[in-house]
Parts: sequence; C-alpha cells; structure tokens
Amino acid sequence: MTLRGKILGFFLLLLLAVMVLLLALVYRSTYQHTLRQVASQLDFAHGVLAHELQSRRQAQSAMADLIAKDFTLLGEIADLVASPQQQAQSLSAALESFAARSQASFALVSAPQGQVLAGTSDELLPGAALPWRDLLDEEDPESAERLVVFAGRVLHVNATPIFAPRPNLMGWLLMAFELDDQATTLLAELSGADVALLDGAPGAYRVLASNLTGLPRAELAGQQLSQAPGVFRFELQNLQQVALRAPLGDTQDDLQVLLMRSLSAELADYQPLQWQLAGIFAIALLLAGLGALWIANTVSRPLSQMVASVRRIAGGDYHAPMATQIGGEVGLLAREFVAMQQGIAEREATISFLAYRDPLTELANRNRFVAELQQALARCAPGDSVAVLLMDLDNFKDLNDTLGHDAGDQLLCQLAERLQQRLRADEQLARLGGDEFALLIPRCDPGQVIPAAEHYRGALQQPFAVRGISMTLNATLGIALYPDHGESAGSLLQHAEVAMYLGKAQRSPYALYRPELDRHSLLRLALMSELKGAVEGGQLSLYLQPKLHIHSRCLYGVECLVRWIHPVHGFIPPDDFIPLAEQTGNVCALTRWVVRTAVAQGRAWQEQGLELKTAINVSALDLADPGFAAFIAEQLSEQGLSAASLIVEITESAVMADPEQAMGQLQQLCELGVLLSIDDYGTGYSSMAQLKRLPVHELKIDKSFVQDLLSNPDDDIIVRSTIELGHNMGLKIVAEGVETEAILERLDQLGCDIAQGYLLSKPLPPAAFAEWLAATHWQVPGLPD
Ligand code: C2E
Ligand code: CA
Ligand code: CA
Repeated sequence: MTLRGKILGFFLLLLLAVMVLLLALVYRSTYQHTLRQVASQLDFAHGVLAHELQSRRQAQSAMADLIAKDFTLLGEIADLVASPQQQAQSLSAALESFAARSQASFALVSAPQGQVLAGTSDELLPGAALPWRDLLDEEDPESAERLVVFAGRVLHVNATPIFAPRPNLMGWLLMAFELDDQATTLLAELSGADVALLDGAPGAYRVLASNLTGLPRAELAGQQLSQAPGVFRFELQNLQQVALRAPLGDTQDDLQVLLMRSLSAELADYQPLQWQLAGIFAIALLLAGLGALWIANTVSRPLSQMVASVRRIAGGDYHAPMATQIGGEVGLLAREFVAMQQGIAEREATISFLAYRDPLTELANRNRFVAELQQALARCAPGDSVAVLLMDLDNFKDLNDTLGHDAGDQLLCQLAERLQQRLRADEQLARLGGDEFALLIPRCDPGQVIPAAEHYRGALQQPFAVRGISMTLNATLGIALYPDHGESAGSLLQHAEVAMYLGKAQRSPYALYRPELDRHSLLRLALMSELKGAVEGGQLSLYLQPKLHIHSRCLYGVECLVRWIHPVHGFIPPDDFIPLAEQTGNVCALTRWVVRTAVAQGRAWQEQGLELKTAINVSALDLADPGFAAFIAEQLSEQGLSAASLIVEITESAVMADPEQAMGQLQQLCELGVLLSIDDYGTGYSSMAQLKRLPVHELKIDKSFVQDLLSNPDDDIIVRSTIELGHNMGLKIVAEGVETEAILERLDQLGCDIAQGYLLSKPLPPAAFAEWLAATHWQVPGLPD
C-alpha cells in the first residue's frame, strides 16, 4: 500500500468512525428524550382520561337521580305494581323516552329484589334477574353506580331507588351509559393519546372500545402486553408504540384502559435534523478526503521524485537533478540525497582511477593501455603506423623466488621509473602485470621501431640496486605494428606477445612480429602464455613408459614423460612445449609438479610391493635452481619414498651447459641417494673423460643410435663401445628406442643392461599403464609370476 493510500485511508476511516459514533449518540439521546416525553404525555393523558370519566359519571348519576324523581315515571311504576300486565307497555315507552333524552344505552325498572319489571334493554327482558344485584341494597336504599362489562360492552350503570314515598321502596331505576368507540374517540382527542378499553388475558384481549379501527385494532387484540406497572413499549403495525395501562375504576372485571402514543411518529420529527447532520458529515468527509489527498501528495510526490532520482543514480547517472527546493523533512532528505550523490560520484571517480592504475608502479594498467591503444588506432591517419612494444624480463620469477617478493616489487618500481624517464612525447607506458610492460608509440615510422626498442632497453643498461645487491636485468621486447600486424588493440597486443616469445626462443633482445611465422609455431608461442596456468590448472599429466632389465627379462622401472592435454588444442607433446617452457622460465614450476606427481606414483607402487624405479626428466634450468635438490629431498621424505627408487635423467647438453653448477646439484642429489642418469647420450659433445667426474649411475644411449642398430654398422660400433666404456666406469647402460625383439637380442649380446622402447610399450597414462602391468608377459618384480 502506498504512503498516499495509507494517509488517505487513515484520515477517512477516522472521520467516518467519529461521525458514526456521533450519529449513534444523537439518535440515542433523541430516542431516550422522546421516550421520556411520550411517557410523561401518557401520564398526563391518563390524568385527563380519569378526570373526564369521573365527570361523565357524575353527570350521568345526577341525570339518573333526576329521572328517578320524575312524577310521570313514579306514576307509571305505581300503576305497574298494581297491574303488571297492562302497565309494562306504557312504562317501557316512558323509559324509552328517558333513555333517549339522557343518551343512555338503556333504562330499566326492577323490583326491590332486582327482578326486571320493564325496560329498553334487548338483553334484560321483564322477569329477568339483574346481573348487578350488588348495587341494590333493600335495607338501606341509596343511589349507587358502577362500570361494568356486559354483553361485550363497557357500561356505566346507575341504580337509583324509587320510593312511594320514603321509606317505602317501590323498586329501582337502572340506567346504563355505554363507553363506546365514539366516547373513546372523544377521550382520545381530549387526552392526545390513542385509547383502548380491554379485558381478557395477554395474547387474547378483547378490545371493548377504542378510537382505533380496522387492522391496528385487530392486531392489538393479539398483543402480549407487559404486565408490569408503568410505561412500556410494543410494536403495532410495525410502528413503535409507548403505552400505559391502568385498571379502569371500580370494576370487578379485569377491565383496563390502554393509552398509547406512536414513538415512531414522535421520532419522525427528528428526521430532518438527522438528514441535516448526515449532509454535514458527508461534506466534512469529502473535505477531509480532499485535504488528506493534498497532504499525501505533498509528501509522496517529492518522495516518488526522489525514488526516480535514486534509480538514475543506481543506473550510474550521478548528475541527475534532485528536487532540493522542497521544504520540510522531505526537502531535508532530498538535500541529504544530493550530498550522497556527490559522495558516490567522487568515490566512483577514485575507484575508476584505481581501476585504470597499476597499484604497485602507479603506471596505467592493462585496461587503460587497451583503451589508449584503441584511441590511438582510431586517430591514426591512413599511411601512419602505431607500434606496440611488449617488454618482458628474463628469469624474473627466479629472481623473485630467491630475493623475495618485496625485492621483486622494488625492482619493478625502479624499472618503471627508468622507463618513464625515457618516455617521449605522445608515447604511453603501462604495466600489464607481473614483469610485463607495454609501450605505445603512435605515429611510428616502421624504420624507427627498432631504435625505439633500443631506446627503452637502455633502461636496463645500468645495474639495479636492491638491498645493497647490485644486479643486471635482461628483458625481451616483442613488437607489433599497426596496421601490418593487426587491426585491433587485442590482436596487436597478442602479436607483440608472440613476438616477445619468439625473441625469447631466439635469445635475441627484441623481435618484430612476423606474419609469415607458420600457424603451428604461432600456436606454440601463444601457448607459452598459458603454460603456467596449465601447471596450476591440472592440464598436465604424466605418461609412464616401462624399462626392462635385459638379462633377466624382468621389469626395472618406468620413465615419467609429461603431456599437456590442452582444453582447446588437445594433446600437446613435450617436444613442443618443454623447450619453450625452458626459454620462458616456466620449466622449474613444471618440473616441481613432475617431481611431486612421480614421487606419489613411486610411493603408490612401493605400497603395493612393486619394486619399480621411477625416472623423471629435468632440464638445465632445474640444475641452476639452487633449491632443487632440497625440494626433491623434501618430497621424498614428505611422501615417504626411498631415494634409491628415484632416477633423475639429465640430458647430456644440460649438464654441459654449465658443468660447474650442474656438478654441485648432482653432488647434492647423489648424496640424497637418488640415482642419476645421463639422457640422450651421444647427441652432444661430451667426452667420457668429462662424464667421469660426475656422480652419475647410468647412461642412456640416445634412441637414434638404437633404432637402426641392426642395419647401421656405425651405430653398432657406437653402442658397443659406449657399453664397454660405461661398464668400465661402473655405469649401467640403458638403451632407449628399442622397438623390436631383434634389437633387444642384439643389446643382450652386447651386454646392455636396460632397454626402453615401443617393444615393451609406448608411454601410457597411469590407468592404462596399470592394466599393461597386470597383463604383461614380462616378469614384474614384487608380483608373482
Ligand atoms: P626423452 O627423455 O629422451 O624421452 C624419450 C622419448 O622417446 C619420449 O618421447 C618417448 O615417447 C620416446 N620413445 C620411447 N620409446 C621409443 C621408441 O621405441 N621409439 C621411438 N621412436 N620413440 C620412443 P616424448 O615422450 O615425446 O618425450 C620427448 C622428450 O621430452 C623427452 O625425451 C624429454 O627430453 C622431454 N620430456 C618429456 N617429459 C619431460 C619432463 O617431465 N621434464 C623435462 N624436462 N623434459 C621432459
Ligand atoms: Ca628421458
Ligand atoms: Ca632420451
């Protein structure tokens, strides 16, 4: 629910509740007031009624007295007593005229004991006994009167003694005056209330007389009226009535009078007032609604404006205008938002500055360089060239490892500073990461690009000083030119990198990208950048090739040969990437992975009880790594493999590259108990005399001499003499490249110790090798025959 809806709803509901309450209160008090008023009116009406009835009865009694003294009547009665038969007629006629004159219902003459003598009543004929004997007192004859219910009528009966003369009681004159509908209508008019005379029980009343007629009167008869004294309410014809009931005078019957006033009619007087109130409330409600809407709008509109602004900020638009001219709290909030907007804008500027800066050297980073390069390409006029130079330090990783990262960082900063000092107008410098720097030379004459590379390489001429140590750095520059070597920033950078690897491979300080470089070598060069990731990312695997002890035809060990299973280019043989790994300084990391994996493999066989020696290949650079022997020792003890199970193969050329350094490492390895093997023997220029000084255990005759052993007599001579000389020096001789049984036979004749080659198996992945091992006909030491 929106804020606006809430404010509106709250105000209107509150007002509505108050109004309903007020209306209810007004209705209740008018109702009660009316009720009280009606009750007192009824009281008053009752008084009026009682008084009126009283005066009527007095008048009627006086009238009866007067008639009883009338001589005509007295004479008639005297005659009647004398001769009842003749005189009854004329007495009746006389009574008729009396009754008519006095508006009585009927008049009667009775004997002193109450026997009707004559009269005008249809019910009480001569001879009948009077029903109201109690009015007649023969002992002490006096006028008496009473209200009676007779034959469904309410009668005021007067009994007057007739003397002839006193004290001789001749009889009684009885006159009856009816309280009929007409009389009650008169009473109703006088008292101002509806009047009904009733007898009978609740639910079955007999309405004897009333000003009410028709349906209301019929319904009244069926009412269950309250029996309690005082004013009460009931419904008649669906209208509320307030009523008062009272016994009527002296009657012995249950005759009672009911006085009623319609409450609904009384309340109707207040209806206009109620309508007026309702009208006022409706107007108030409308006004309040409009007011609440206005207030809600003054709050919610600026808020929704602000929401829109905040959305724009979220979208990165920090200059979106914000409604700050609003007053009140909302305005305050808006102004705070503006402050926040500026804060965010400033922070984002800082962040983007950082995003385009290399934090170590504060040079531009790769993103920035790419952006600058793109701009330079866009601005480049037709016929002009743009040069991208990529500078990569040689062996920086080793330096980092030996001196520590802090020293490496210091070196990079010093180099960055020197390069910056050499920067010329329009040229850009960036650090792409690690030990890689990039230079951008817009409007570069292709003839000037090599001098430019020389110019920047000049930064390396002076030695660098870190922690008091002075050292020289070397770097290789790869160069790519727009538009000859690439159209986009991405391809130019990539090609500069390829050129850089080319330079490293050729061991030249700089190299220009050559589009004619065949795709294969390009791929290899490009792959170099991925090799480091491959070592860490698990793309390498070790294949295993068995070695055989020739004389006993018993398995001797395996050689571990590395493979690179590239996710895109697939299987890459080691000859394609090991030389490059050596040139780019990645080979040490690779060798460490090989050592770890091979030692684990050796350990697994050791646990299975297999007596197999595990051979690994190491390069010249590994021998130059001062921590290499220590690393091997650490791996052996960590994984629990005996040193004698490990063979380290070093190519002849690797040893001869720096015999002094190799000597030290080999000595250390030898002391560990690791076996050392000279690989590819015969391909280099080493002499047995030189080898003699080295602490090696075996010689591997290169496969080029073995493969053609049977067909080429020269090879036979070389192999035979190598075996003899080696044996003289106490070395074991291994022949690799043994592809046939015949060669194996010949090698056996020549006294060669160990054979390796496709005759046994090609190098196999570990799982396949395990299967081969289980299935081979060669004897496996540690396995039952
Ligand atoms: P290598 O140490 O002389 O390894 C022997 C090479 O000869 C292997 O080639 C092997 O597959 C191949 N070979 C074995 N038997 C026969 C055979 O009967 N006939 C023929 N024609 N060839 C055979 P691969 O595996 O391609 O390795 C090539 C070279 O890569 C290796 O020569 C080694 O110098 C290098 N290398 C392999 N793995 C590593 C490693 O982990 N570290 C280092 N630094 N170099 C390695
Ligand atoms: Ca080898
Ligand atoms: Ca070899």
